[in-house]
Amino acid sequence: MTDQYDATIYYDDDADDSYLNDKTVAVLGYGSQGHAHAQNLADSGVDVVVGLREGSSSRKAAEADGLRVATPTEAASEAQVVSVLVPDTVQPAVYADIESELEPGDTLQFAHGFNIHYGQIEPSEDVDVTMIAPKSPGHLVRRNYQAEEGTPGLLAVYQDASGEAKEEALAYGKAIGCTRAGVVETSFQEETETDLFGEQAVLCGGVTELIKAGYETLVDAGYSPEMAYFECLNEMKLIVDLMYEGGLGEMWDSVSDTAEYGGLTRGEVVVDDHAREKMEQVLEEVQNGEFAQQWIVENQAGRPSYRQKRKAEKNHEIEEVGDRLRELFAWSETEDEESESEEK
Ligand code: NAD
Ligand code: MG
Ligand code: MG
Ligand code: MG
Ligand code: MG
Repeated sequence: MTDQYDATIYYDDDADDSYLNDKTVAVLGYGSQGHAHAQNLADSGVDVVVGLREGSSSRKAAEADGLRVATPTEAASEAQVVSVLVPDTVQPAVYADIESELEPGDTLQFAHGFNIHYGQIEPSEDVDVTMIAPKSPGHLVRRNYQAEEGTPGLLAVYQDASGEAKEEALAYGKAIGCTRAGVVETSFQEETETDLFGEQAVLCGGVTELIKAGYETLVDAGYSPEMAYFECLNEMKLIVDLMYEGGLGEMWDSVSDTAEYGGLTRGEVVVDDHAREKMEQVLEEVQNGEFAQQWIVENQAGRPSYRQKRKAEKNHEIEEVGDRLRELFAWSETEDEESESEEK
């Protein structure tokens, strides 16, 4: 544990728009992050071209949003800043197509450090390599910008060939709305390793296994699947919302004293030293590149075990119980309708 708070945070006033003046930004990909970066940049007055393959289904969407579209190669050729927002697993192939278009002083801009950190993309020394990584899905990056609100983000410079890499990255962060909320300075290594560890051990992997283990424990002991679903999955959101709003303290304050005492004494029985040792092991495999290597090979092989794991997760009993219960209770349907109408 540390009591140091030494991260530097940048806001609008620290960013100088002029570092993107007279430059063209190529946004490669028009998915979650791509559509948000491209539109926010354009609305901020930056010249944007979206790079998409000839047959890409995203082309229509980008054009409908009023953006200029070209192939990734054409877009990179024209641009001085190339924002790589295609999926991490396809970035090396897309990079191979655009590499020859990069001129000295041009910038490769990322929203996640995987391919740079694990050496899957090795840019030449004369280009800048930077990161502005919004800490949120793209639709929120776009929605917050339109609401004149910000989205917190991370800034990192891997390579500063021009001497202006950080200033330009800050201008980019400002143009997509991140410096309104604050941009935390980090490194490609720290961003990549903490992102992977967080999603594996806590956010995506940890939480789903905790939910399934709790559910199975109750059902195996003879309790009804409906009760197990409510206790172990549905209520998760209520608890997380409280922590998001006011930290662990607000959650503990809001639950009953019985829940607080039970949680404080039994939580550490479940997530014990053994679980912590396993977390350290997961972190080690992120740090030494073992996870990255496994994922790269898995992709090269056509994702056989990924597909199998996905299928098993879909077929877990809790999914069937959840589908049935969410249908009986209207809460999630209302939410779906809301987000659908926002898309339009
Ligand atoms: P995405 O999967 O939503 O979008 C990918 C887009 O890339 C597609 O819409 C398509 O336009 C294009 N594309 C797909 N396959 C392609 C191919 N073979 N060749 C060319 N273009 C192709 O991706 P995303 O989630 O926005 O991720 C982009 C980057 O942003 C990644 O580095 C990711 O780690 C990072 N990131 C994502 C999030 C998030 O919440 N989604 C948050 C922070 C950072
Ligand atoms: Mg160029
Ligand atoms: Mg540059
Ligand atoms: Mg991630
Ligand atoms: Mg309860």
